[in-house]
Amino acid sequence: MSVITISHLCKNYPLGKQEVQAVKDVSFNIERGEFAAISGPSGSGKSTILNMIGLIDLPTSGSIIIGDTDVYKGINLADAEVQNDRWVSSGNEKDAKKKKRTTIPAKLDRRITGLRRSHLGFIFQTFNLIPVLNVYENIEFPLLIKSKNPVAKSPVDDFSKKEKEDWVNFLIEKVGLTDWRDHKSSELSGGQRQRVAIARALVTKAPVILADEPTANLDSENSKQILSLMKDLNRDKDLQTTFIFSTHDARIVNMCDHVVHLLDGKITNDEYKTGSDIYGEAD
Ligand code: ADP
Repeated sequence: MSVITISHLCKNYPLGKQEVQAVKDVSFNIERGEFAAISGPSGSGKSTILNMIGLIDLPTSGSIIIGDTDVYKGINLADAEVQNDRWVSSGNEKDAKKKKRTTIPAKLDRRITGLRRSHLGFIFQTFNLIPVLNVYENIEFPLLIKSKNPVAKSPVDDFSKKEKEDWVNFLIEKVGLTDWRDHKSSELSGGQRQRVAIARALVTKAPVILADEPTANLDSENSKQILSLMKDLNRDKDLQTTFIFSTHDARIVNMCDHVVHLLDGKITNDEYKTGSDIYGEAD
């Protein structure tokens, strides 16, 4: 079962009067349970693709299907772009003359923010924790941001207060921070902060976790431990979480069972490693 399908994805950035073609006609699938990497040298388009999958950046053309939602269906991407959170459309001549600026169409905005909460978890290289909150509070945080938007619904929203507490404590144990539960994130080491960020990404039970160079700010021992933790979480049959990395770290690439290799914005190899064993024994 595909959790992410991207087809003919292109992304151009304006560069003076010209354009940089950062991503050129990229298509691939991510199946449920994969430990997958988008890999390539610096400037090859990894972060741009991950940002488009994370619905942080808008494609110039192509489609992204998350779960069973075709995110940009019915939207004329060729005719629109987002600048400073404003949807800029030159849909007809009158608008083009006025360079009409509107907010992102409300329906698409709801779809994007909803899918981000219900389907995607994010791990950043700079951890992005809230320093004044303790470990428990940082992990619990995404559960506090609720909306009436049905697309944004997480299964955890229906938990009782006690069930939510147990779930957060379970994740704290999973990432090995039980003794640090009440410590502020500013008191933690880099490796511990990334563990908090991993638990926070898992807290809404989003089926897909996106991680942009998650070991870039860690020393090699902490990187090893964080990678092994993520692999264990990926292989956990109860959690069933798919991981997608953007990385040029060979250690991550070696641990992945699906690697999309990029060069200059194009796929050079969509590699499924032999012997990858989704929800089987970890190697
Ligand atoms: P990678 O993550 O593999 O290092 P990126 O996705 O960051 O690559 O960048 C791919 C290409 O797109 C590069 O040529 C980069 O300079 C260009 N690029 C990325 N973001 C922007 C931007 N916001 N504006 C202009 N060009 C950009």
